[in-house]
Amino acid sequence: MFKKVLIANRGEIALRILRACKELGIGTVAVHSTADEAAMHVRLADESVCIGPPASNESYLNIHQIVAACEITGADAIHPGYGFLSENAKFAEILEAHGITFIGPSSAHIRIMGDKIEAKKTVKQLGIPVVPGSDGAVSDPREAKRIADKIGYPVIIKAASGGGGRGMKVANSASDLAEALGSARKEAGAAFGDDVVYIEKYLSKPRHIEVQVMGNGKGYLGERDCSLQRRHQKVLEEATSPVLDDEQRENIGMVCAKAIGDMGYSGAGTVEFLYEDGEFYFIEMNTRLQVEHPVTEMITRIDLVNEQLHVATGEGLSFTQEEVSFMGHAIECRINAENAHTFVPSPGCISYYHPPGGLGVRVDSGVYQGYQIPPYYDSLIGKLIVHGRTRPECLMRLRRALDEFVVDGIDTTLPLFRELMTEDDIIKGDYNIHWLEKYLANKS
Ligand code: ADP
Repeated sequence: MFKKVLIANRGEIALRILRACKELGIGTVAVHSTADEAAMHVRLADESVCIGPPASNESYLNIHQIVAACEITGADAIHPGYGFLSENAKFAEILEAHGITFIGPSSAHIRIMGDKIEAKKTVKQLGIPVVPGSDGAVSDPREAKRIADKIGYPVIIKAASGGGGRGMKVANSASDLAEALGSARKEAGAAFGDDVVYIEKYLSKPRHIEVQVMGNGKGYLGERDCSLQRRHQKVLEEATSPVLDDEQRENIGMVCAKAIGDMGYSGAGTVEFLYEDGEFYFIEMNTRLQVEHPVTEMITRIDLVNEQLHVATGEGLSFTQEEVSFMGHAIECRINAENAHTFVPSPGCISYYHPPGGLGVRVDSGVYQGYQIPPYYDSLIGKLIVHGRTRPECLMRLRRALDEFVVDGIDTTLPLFRELMTEDDIIKGDYNIHWLEKYLANKS
């Protein structure tokens, strides 16, 4: 096993990784910007190194500084968490060249899946069903029209290098198409430094269901339903999906496991699908640990970070597919430092903090009373994850845990979740990717 792991991240995910390392007796190195000197991940790590000023591109994205921190502290591996450098193929390559283990898949696999056009081509050849659309990049409006006429409107134009729900434009008819194409390219160029876009059929009422794959590619750990979204970003996730039965779960899981095995993929990964009228359509694959991984951990009782560490050393997984079983139901709420109705970010000092506890309740967070949330980073400050033997029991417990949760001094999204717990559609599990946007529009 590794002797020392450097965690190239911050916030709740840095703590999550640190905990898995501590349980395995692995030394931990935290890196941080000057804005994060008092952060919990820095306090709890065995060693810490300041890697730069607050701006992410000068600190958490600064490859040179992170590699230097690794060399100074003698860490033998880096866990990138999610976001920041986690899907940066160049970073993985540089570590490979320095003899430092990147806890994740090979740089070649990161590169393929980081280009969504390439990713779709690759998985299609491996037998995974994809959303109908263009075979590759589209830049000419006439070609776009020919493709859209063939697949039928509405269509969605998406950035090949896209992420975080950005750079997507929907065209409802031929008359919006040229403008949608132009604005998607412009937005993609500005956000990702790459204006390559492609076209997909826009599904009207899908759910977002994703499959967790792990390790040597022979296994899968069930699905997560992440259909509750705002601006194409996940807000609440649950496992198992309220709409899949055991047979569907096993079928899609096995399709993914086989494809990933055939690719020779190693490490944690998520194969994301839209699901409509009983059919799955691949949209992308994430080659890292996901924000919502705890719901999978709660129903499988498998520690995904521990498994990532074992796979990265070459030891392999601690379980076989036959040993994987899904017990009960888990739901995660993303707690953001944002106004629950306007979603305006709310950095500042947490004047009082009381997280909920009790049976089946897990809070993954890096905040504490008196903590000053810096304005420079993502507004996710924690996750409330609740497990129950059944979905109704999970909801009952989640309602109780939300009532118990106190975060004073800043705005959070907690009030939104309390409201959602009283909505019939949420209670029944009857919602698709548009549900939350419609709910919020009706309220305003
Ligand atoms: P990102 O990498 O930016 O997260 P994804 O391809 O994973 O982009 O899509 C994010 C979300 O955007 C999906 O969960 C879904 O809500 C919406 N979306 C993406 N593609 C389509 C599509 N073809 N039809 C309808 N909604 C889509």
